[in-house]
Amino acid sequence: MLPAEVLEVLDVVRRHNTWRKFECINLIASENTMSPLAKALYVNDMMHRYAEGKPGKRFYQGSIFIDILETRTSDLLAKLFNVRFAEVRAISGSIANAIAFRSFASVGDVALVPALQSGAHISHTEFGVLGALGIKHVEMPFDLDSWNIDVDKAVKLIESIKPRIVVLGASLYLFPHPTKPIAEAAYSVGARVVHDVAHVLGLIAGGVWPNPVHEGADAVTASTHKTFPGPQGGLILTNREDVYKLVSNNVLTFVSNHHIHRLAATAVTAIEMMHFGSAYADQITRNARAFAEELASQGLPVVAENLGYTKSHIVAIDVRKFGGGAKIAKLLEEANIIANKNVLPWDRPQDAPNPSGIRFGVQEMTRFGMKEGEFKEIAKLIADIIVRGAEPSSIRRKVVELRKDFVKVHYGFDLPEDLGKKTIYEFIEMGI
Ligand SMILES: *Cc1c(COP(=O)(O)O)cnc(C)c1O
Repeated sequence: MLPAEVLEVLDVVRRHNTWRKFECINLIASENTMSPLAKALYVNDMMHRYAEGKPGKRFYQGSIFIDILETRTSDLLAKLFNVRFAEVRAISGSIANAIAFRSFASVGDVALVPALQSGAHISHTEFGVLGALGIKHVEMPFDLDSWNIDVDKAVKLIESIKPRIVVLGASLYLFPHPTKPIAEAAYSVGARVVHDVAHVLGLIAGGVWPNPVHEGADAVTASTHKTFPGPQGGLILTNREDVYKLVSNNVLTFVSNHHIHRLAATAVTAIEMMHFGSAYADQITRNARAFAEELASQGLPVVAENLGYTKSHIVAIDVRKFGGGAKIAKLLEEANIIANKNVLPWDRPQDAPNPSGIRFGVQEMTRFGMKEGEFKEIAKLIADIIVRGAEPSSIRRKVVELRKDFVKVHYGFDLPEDLGKKTIYEFIEMGI
């Protein structure tokens, strides 16, 4: 008999899995689910190993197969994103940013970044990674009419303050930031451009979002687990050999072991995106649009209406008049609809605990096979709660019912029949 403490650990994992995998509609924009094959490969002996340094130039012995896998993973990602270099050792998007920022700037330097209230990630700011590196930030102005960085004002700022780095990309990312004009201005003053596509990496893989490497960014940083449906991890892409060398040399500053077991799953996910990425990304954009339109017609203020709401997987609503984001996110959770409160451009710093917005992402439910019809259903259930004051527990029953038919991962590889489940489990067992 296992000790009670162990049973408690098992129980809490079982309850989490049942709730989040089978009973919730997950609309957190930064999450996803791996395919059955990627999941099976995720658990392997590499999770116990070190492989500091680069393939062929490690500090320890024992990485013969890790070297093959890491090189292959990096080649696959470079091919998928049509770039010359992919650095796969950052263990998260924030760490990828840290590596890129450290590569380009030193203590006391200035970085020009998107404003936090307009969707920037905390790691872009003095309150996060950037600040921890001693780099100061100055915010770029945001233009509400185009729901984007105000290019003219940003260019003037670049020319006047001459930053070391200009950062693009966001966590509330509805429309692509304009890499080209910003990069031109940045290069004219000797600044480097880091475009953080953590949220939209899967959309880039599927060809529905521009790849900033091709528009002139020095380095593109990302997470591998948001719209790109791989294991949690980070990625840096570049076409410039000098940048790749610089970035690679800085990896060891931030990670010693790089969570090597995730690489097999990352590689498989990259191959899945080569096969299914365009259908997956296309469905995401259709679902996001249908979802936004239905939310709006149900009486919810969806942001960026004049621009067609969104070009990504994200839809944001302004719930100020319904009590604010904190209250609404909690009510939705009671109905098993999982989303997060989010600041919107008009919020002040002191509004952060109860900001104006709710952010939704359609990518994970799209991967579970939901289409426009289901997203319209979900929009109605959300409006039942927010607009019509329905009891969340009564909606929860409908959510559980709706989720029942969408538990199988699409756009990815199953455990192959000829390999057989037994073989996969033996493989895992052998791996551990
Ligand atoms: C999520 C996010 C990150 C951080 O990624 P992690 O993998 O969670 O560290 C960085 N930048 C942006 C824009 C993000 O949205």
